[in-house]
Amino acid sequence: MEKIGHFIGGKRVEGTSGRYADVYNPATGEVQAQVALASQDEMDAAIANAAAAQPAWAATNPQRRARVMMKFVDLLNRDMDKLAEALSREHGKTLPDAKGDVIRGLEVAEFCIGAPHLLKGEFTEGAGPGIDMYSMRQPLGVVAGITPFNFPAMIPMWKFCPALACGNAFILKPSERDPSVPIMLAELMIEAGLPEGVLNVVNGDKSAVDAILDDETIQAVGFVGSTPIAQYVYSRATAAGKRAQCFGGAKNHMIIMPDADLDQAADALVGAGYGAAGERCMAVSVAVPVGESTANALIEKLAPKVEALKIGPYTAGDDVDFGPLVTKEALTRVKGLVDQGVKEGANLVVDGRGFSMQGYEDGFFMGGCLFDNVTRDMDIYKTEIFGPVLSVVRAESYEEALDLPLSHEYGNGTAIFTRDGDTARDFASRINIGMVGINVPIPVPLAYHTFGGWKKSGFGDLNQHGPDGFKFYTRTKTVTSRWPSGLKDGAEFVIPTMK
Ligand code: NAD
Repeated sequence: MEKIGHFIGGKRVEGTSGRYADVYNPATGEVQAQVALASQDEMDAAIANAAAAQPAWAATNPQRRARVMMKFVDLLNRDMDKLAEALSREHGKTLPDAKGDVIRGLEVAEFCIGAPHLLKGEFTEGAGPGIDMYSMRQPLGVVAGITPFNFPAMIPMWKFCPALACGNAFILKPSERDPSVPIMLAELMIEAGLPEGVLNVVNGDKSAVDAILDDETIQAVGFVGSTPIAQYVYSRATAAGKRAQCFGGAKNHMIIMPDADLDQAADALVGAGYGAAGERCMAVSVAVPVGESTANALIEKLAPKVEALKIGPYTAGDDVDFGPLVTKEALTRVKGLVDQGVKEGANLVVDGRGFSMQGYEDGFFMGGCLFDNVTRDMDIYKTEIFGPVLSVVRAESYEEALDLPLSHEYGNGTAIFTRDGDTARDFASRINIGMVGINVPIPVPLAYHTFGGWKKSGFGDLNQHGPDGFKFYTRTKTVTSRWPSGLKDGAEFVIPTMK
């Protein structure tokens, strides 16, 4: 059985805690590897390593750090197929989707090539007589990232690329469900010229996370995962005086106005609702058609599309829409929520619970499910299902539709499909959600903008990647300088003002 350890001091090392977690191939249901779960001592060793390597890396000029990123981008492209295969084998998503996972991370690395420009400070000449004032952005030191299973390439890169470009050393604690790709990324960073010890990958579970949160060397923690853990990490990290940004779960609504192109809206819903088996924080899980006739027409278009979804293992290539869920527990949980929806009285128009994949009967597959007449008091409306399940909540008016995402506890993404500019502008302006699509179902911002949800989808005050990434991983120092010619007048006893 393959054993996956850690990546510390520039190389793979074996786990020494004696604790392991199973890593599955979700398509076959087989355990394909065991990943080591780090002990406190192993985490301490990785942090000590990072702390030793960080000052020299911070002293490397930003242009040279950017060149490492440039080379890293080349290597990601070179190894794209290999990375996608390893990713699909542990996660279950299709190969094209796995490549998308790598590419959305690669784009953040590309953005970070601009580090020399992004790290430039501000300068005021002559802020007072003979006085200049300037600010500079300095790295924090050793920082950490804790990431979820659903984007094992993209989200680690959202975290470590800006952190490293800013001159920090990084401890990555990826998901124990799909640990191979994060280590492969760390190897590529070393090949790209990153000094050993600057990027470490430590696998583990809650104990590894707690070791990060309580450590005094680590200055900042970036987390992505489910909301209860995001809240836990945020409160424990900030209580320990760390900077923290923690992103959580989602329930993304898409409003379909009566004037929308319904064919386009139905296609968008199927892709955004069922792609990656719904295991995306930006998946659309609630469709809100406005008006009875819009709802009826939409269901009529959606049902056959959901029934026709092609489900299969990643090895089937491009001919598959989505693959299995990540674990048997995830499959049982999602099916249980569908059972719950039926009990609550929602109308299950398409039932994918009984789906079995021929030749892969032990895989964690299920078919797409479509609910109609879901109401806001139902558990299936309130809970993030994180599976191939789309709920239709009917609304009589735009205001009633708008109130659904406005009142929901999550605030990650949302979308509206309409031909009317006034409605679209009103929606974008009034909605209390971090990322908004207008006739775009999954509005994931590009690398040079920032990504972040509101309400219970995000804790902390800066977003991920884009300019916010550089702000999060640096602190500002402001220097006020006066040279001797300005110091001739003797002591001043009044608080300095710029005369
Ligand atoms: P998760 O919360 O189970 O795990 C995330 C990380 O936290 C993992 O590294 C895991 O090892 C660690 N962890 C798990 N339990 C812990 C505990 N009790 N104490 C400390 N650490 C713990 O999330 P997941 O299942 O891997 O990912 C799916 C979730 O992530 C969904 O809710 C999804 O919406 C969310 N997500 C959010 C975003 C975003 O940007 N908002 C992006 C992707 C995924």
